Amino acid sequence: MRATRAIIHLDAFRHNLHLVRSRIGSPRRICVPVKADGYGHGAVPLAKLSLEEGAEFLAVATAAEGVLLREAGITAPILLLSIPLPEEIPEIIRDSLIPLVGDRDCILEFAVAAERGKEPLRVHLKVDTGMGRVGCPPESAPELAALIARSRSLKLGGTATHLAVSDSSDRGSIDYTKKQLERFSRAVEGIRKSGIDPGIVHAANTGALAFHEDAWFDMVRPGILLYGYAPLGAEAVLPVKPVMELVSQIVFIKQLKKGESVSYGRTWIADRDTVIATIPVGYGDGLPRRLSGDFSVRINGAWYPLAGRICMDQCMIDLGPNTAVRRWDTASLFGGDAFSAADVAAKLGTISYEITCGINKRVPRIYVDRASAYKL
Ligand SMILES: *Cc1c(COP(=O)(O)O)cnc(C)c1O
Repeated sequence: MRATRAIIHLDAFRHNLHLVRSRIGSPRRICVPVKADGYGHGAVPLAKLSLEEGAEFLAVATAAEGVLLREAGITAPILLLSIPLPEEIPEIIRDSLIPLVGDRDCILEFAVAAERGKEPLRVHLKVDTGMGRVGCPPESAPELAALIARSRSLKLGGTATHLAVSDSSDRGSIDYTKKQLERFSRAVEGIRKSGIDPGIVHAANTGALAFHEDAWFDMVRPGILLYGYAPLGAEAVLPVKPVMELVSQIVFIKQLKKGESVSYGRTWIADRDTVIATIPVGYGDGLPRRLSGDFSVRINGAWYPLAGRICMDQCMIDLGPNTAVRRWDTASLFGGDAFSAADVAAKLGTISYEITCGINKRVPRIYVDRASAYKL
């Protein structure tokens, strides 16, 4: 196996899922978003673990992601969060994925296609209450719910919305989320008043799980929280553990003289005689090149700075002149006792999601549960 790998701590994921369960109480369902290959952690193993641990739903972004879960033998309900192309509809029906629909054309398209299916296709109505991405205006929700309810080939399995600023706890964001939730509640009420069952009502992402109990309704959909990152200010109530740890191993060590340079562009020049280690991880693995010059790794419990630019497949570390570090020692890049993905993200002005999603296919995922390690 490669020196560079992403260790996926299943016990941390399980811990995070239990935190969510105890926070929301048991009559509510948990939908686990495993889109983008489970935020980079591996969709199939984490979907299976989630279901074993009592989660009821999964969510994906694309039809292909849903098909992959079905091919892995997963039979649980799977929400399809993004809008598919018409040509993807047959596989959605074949695999009973549950699309989120938010306009007349899309509903009619599914209704016609689902007539060829064996049983009615369950869909959830998506209401846009202020995210501005997909979904119907709250006022149209009852009419669209009626359109679904009247169709012989569709069944309204749920009604959902998505929150834009639920993870910020400043006054303005809290007020905006309250407004979104009021709009949503009114839309759901409108559906009920017209004699239609809205099905499973759901709205809560990670931010709402932390800060907005009135968004929990019948089901929650926290993603990043389950992968180990709580919003700022919610760490105390939701002490989650990072699930992904990116590690590599030192494959080469050399002495460098004062004045000699390291890596492309010669941006790093040794200001003293020192020892430089090479680890085989780079931007070709998803380690952002912009970290060059502002990043340290952990080796045997101590911090060591990167030297020079991150290359596609390798980067170099300054071990200092008197180092005890040896070839093949493990370097932790994030997760574990190194920086968290959130720390890395903060350096780059982005979010932890982008860091874990960015670790790509070239990096093997090693699933570790308590003491045992196995590769899927
Ligand atoms: C990705 C996503 C979620 C999960 O969001 P987190 O911020 O990771 O909790 C929930 N709902 C929808 C519609 C999403 O697209």
